[in-house]
Amino acid sequence: MADVVSIATAGTGARTSLLDRIGAKAEARGIPISVHLDLTWACNEGCVHCYLDHSVGGDMNTTEIKGVLDQLAAAGVMFLTLSGGEIMLRKDIFEIVAYARSLLFDVRLKTNGILIGEGEADRFAELGVREVNISIYSHLPEVHDAITRVPGSFLRSIEAVKRLKSRGLAVEIRVCVIKGGVSYARLRALAEELGVRIQYDATVAPMIDGDRTPVSLNISPEERAEFYADPAVLPGLEDACAPASADELMNGHSCGAGHNGCYISPQGDVMPCVQFPLVCGSLRQSSFLEIWKFSPQFTEIRGIRNRDLHVCGSCSSLSSCGRCPGLAFQEGNMRGASRQDCENTYFRTKVPTPLYPAPEIDPAPRRQTPVSSQFVPLTALLPAQRDGAHRESAAY
Ligand code: SF4
Ligand code: SF4
Repeated sequence: MADVVSIATAGTGARTSLLDRIGAKAEARGIPISVHLDLTWACNEGCVHCYLDHSVGGDMNTTEIKGVLDQLAAAGVMFLTLSGGEIMLRKDIFEIVAYARSLLFDVRLKTNGILIGEGEADRFAELGVREVNISIYSHLPEVHDAITRVPGSFLRSIEAVKRLKSRGLAVEIRVCVIKGGVSYARLRALAEELGVRIQYDATVAPMIDGDRTPVSLNISPEERAEFYADPAVLPGLEDACAPASADELMNGHSCGAGHNGCYISPQGDVMPCVQFPLVCGSLRQSSFLEIWKFSPQFTEIRGIRNRDLHVCGSCSSLSSCGRCPGLAFQEGNMRGASRQDCENTYFRTKVPTPLYPAPEIDPAPRRQTPVSSQFVPLTALLPAQRDGAHRESAAY
């Protein structure tokens, strides 16, 4: 999955960690406890599988971002993920992080790290950033650099991991598993050598505007079977964001997207999750709480229970599947099954699922158009011309 709203797994009642209990309480009270805010979609890498168009502009300026952070604090948000694009391309990144910390958010950063030198690492440590996620795609520099399309990026990212780690920040290597493959055991060994955690994401998602081109970079069935059979992988899958518990299964829902967490784009569009690109409102037109509490899209999502799901509602793998409603949405119906999740679940459990290996049924029978008309094309909402190739850094 492209990303995880940290504790967005509530909804089925049987989770026991402190974070899960906080998430469940937040959900019961209608509080968006966890928000992922992208500061820009511009990037200084050009990863082959990226789900963002780096040429999209119109990012919120410093004043707008601070105004959004004020609103999030007032709404009860505790966990704030700042991501992109590449956050270090924002000239105001430290001002934003400092402001977020002054509002007492628990701040996690997602970055490729290649612009994090000694001074930047010092600053993030001083500001009290809790965690930094850095993407690494292989233990082989030449493979990583071929994926990012930036020569030397592997060494620079690894240096950033070391710098941040040495200052006491929690660092986690994030691995998107893509065609061509890496040795997961070697990558885990590298993470252990560096003394940091590692987490794998076995799904290449479509682009956030609906373009499915990156999906072709998903690993083959043979590679997926190998992936799930690799003991080096299993500990890094523990945090998968949506496995439903058996308890109250039918009355539960897939994950916390839209229930206790959401995503905000650099342009101020609010969506359930970065991987669930259903636009629920614009912060340039409405307040955060108006959108969170009253948008018809959020209301609709909150009304969906597992018992309402087409195909998944009667699937024997539901309790072990990390069903992602965002992937299902991008495949055509947020109430439907996701072929990608069926495939992942099959290779993880070795139990045939409704859509894999033999897709004998319609993944989305009784298609139901949501109030949102299912997919609001971001291209219709975004301000800048998009050429898909422009990767200059944004100016603020
Ligand atoms: S929509 Fe998908 S990626 Fe987002 S929190 Fe839910 S399961 Fe995870
Ligand atoms: S395995 Fe497929 S049908 Fe079953 S719950 Fe997961 S996505 Fe739905």
